[in-house]
Amino acid sequence: MLAVAVGLSPVVAFGAVAWWAHARSTRVKIVNLCEAAPANKRSSRRQPVDAVVLHQMAFSRGNDLLSYRKVTAHFVVTPDGTIGQLHPVNARLSASHGFNSRSVAIEFAGNLRSVNGNWWRPETYGRDTLTREQIEAGRKLLMLLKRQGIRFVLGHRQSDADRGNDPGPEIWSSIAQWGIEKLRLSDGGPEYSIDTGRPIPESWRSFDPSTGGNS
Ligand SMILES: [Zn+2]
Repeated sequence: MLAVAVGLSPVVAFGAVAWWAHARSTRVKIVNLCEAAPANKRSSRRQPVDAVVLHQMAFSRGNDLLSYRKVTAHFVVTPDGTIGQLHPVNARLSASHGFNSRSVAIEFAGNLRSVNGNWWRPETYGRDTLTREQIEAGRKLLMLLKRQGIRFVLGHRQSDADRGNDPGPEIWSSIAQWGIEKLRLSDGGPEYSIDTGRPIPESWRSFDPSTGGNS
């Protein structure tokens, strides 16, 4: 508990960290914000959870976890790598279109570029880069969720036409692809998408953030 509390005094008031017992085994620090997040975003699930869906917020409010409490996701990851849990994983959220019933949503703070090196409305939302801390946090969270029974790592792009760069190549190449290779998670296959979504492009898998292009 102490490790969670250090430097996060506004959050300590929200008390018990439900996932802490599980989290300790993979050394993941998860700050419980479930009481601060709007409970009316939650509905009951009718099918088992087998997937995690990765998202980018397309904005950043820095490292103040509470400023993200209205984000519709189970978990948020701030630029300093802090993970906040906004909703219980057994709650269904309207976060990922057709994947909602079967999935847990993770949102990464940041307006992250496309594979062509373009940021969405950068004059308003800035030009962010996924941080090393976010990558490490995202990988640990995938590891933890796999232990809870997750078998698929998916992108929001795969379920909605308007989410072409969500989560985008930085998150996909460094976190999802790692989960596919190291944790043997599946993204549904090279052509997999549902409804109006589109498959994960090959260019996302091999994206090299250091050059802003493909390796
Ligand atoms: Zn999204």
